[in-house]
Amino acid sequence: VYILAIESSCDETACSIVKNGREVLSNIISSQIEIHQKFGGVVPEVASRKHVENITGVVELTMKEANIEREDIDAVAVTYGPGLVGALLVGLQFAKGFAFSLGVPLIGVNHIEGHIAANYIQYKELEPPFVSLVVSGGHTFVVHVKDYDDFEVMGETRDDAAGEAFDKVARAMGLGYPGGPKIDQIAKEGNPLAIKFPKANFHEDTLDFSFSGLKSAVLNYLNSEKQRGNEINVPDVSASFQHAVVSVLVENAMKTIKSRNLDKIAVAGGVASNSSLRKALLQKGEEENVRILFPDAILCTDNAAMIGSAAYFQFIKGHVSGNDLNAKPGLSLGGR
Ligand code: ATP
Ligand code: MG
Ligand code: FE
Repeated sequence: VYILAIESSCDETACSIVKNGREVLSNIISSQIEIHQKFGGVVPEVASRKHVENITGVVELTMKEANIEREDIDAVAVTYGPGLVGALLVGLQFAKGFAFSLGVPLIGVNHIEGHIAANYIQYKELEPPFVSLVVSGGHTFVVHVKDYDDFEVMGETRDDAAGEAFDKVARAMGLGYPGGPKIDQIAKEGNPLAIKFPKANFHEDTLDFSFSGLKSAVLNYLNSEKQRGNEINVPDVSASFQHAVVSVLVENAMKTIKSRNLDKIAVAGGVASNSSLRKALLQKGEEENVRILFPDAILCTDNAAMIGSAAYFQFIKGHVSGNDLNAKPGLSLGGR
């Protein structure tokens, strides 16, 4: 089964052709990062316009690289939420037209379920059940993946997402957008124990996350140091902030896996690229006999291959969408 998948939920215009949900024939990502960097974040209106300009070229290039004919395509998949409504609609309209012209089914895919499915591409033998730690720009979850289409959210952020915290802290230090990779890099030269930032500790027994307190603590620290005329040690602040985020993520992921009788944690979303998170989780996993899975960086960030993978598992169950499929900007994990 060959699926052509389209992703346009945020600032990446992406297209991919995926065979049987696990094999990527081509994976083209046209990023708008340079355009949005000028504004320090994604400007929705600009994102939609750029998707319109890019999408035809991106799809053509994807077909060419995969070296397959239009007749070979069995279905067209597209992200329909969550994301920016204007951005989603561009991909959705294109996908509808394309599916109609080929006479094949349209498959609407949940972007977050796509992030999780990136692991099926990376690990050809991976099957549910497992736990997934989803850490992206807009979402943070620990979830029990019971089946390809059955998700139980066990914990989620009550305020900022992990990636959002990285982006905001980076911005406050003038490191630019997106902040995660910048902090990851510069933290390598810093001391993670230099500054003690608070971890979010709820009094209740919960698997939820909170990052806004940590973010405020970092911003307050930066302000008070500046007021005192002290030079900011950017590597130390970055490393200490990152340490606080990573410890909470590792702690909750391990608590989640222990609360179920499971043995694998598959990490997903942009923050899954973080080198400190990878190291800390792999180490903890070894200690506790839990297998830790991470997709390659290119599959962690927004891409259409992950959408094609998630779509395949819907397709083989006969779950296809009607032509009335609409964008759902606030779609929840497991929601339809
Ligand atoms: P969502 O998937 O929740 O809708 P999104 O699509 O914008 O949001 P992703 O593309 O999954 O998010 O991830 C982007 C986020 O990942 C950004 O916040 C970015 O800073 C963060 N990120 C990317 N690389 C790293 C890294 N090495 N360390 C930490 N964060 C990172
Ligand atoms: Mg992006
Ligand atoms: Fe994403």
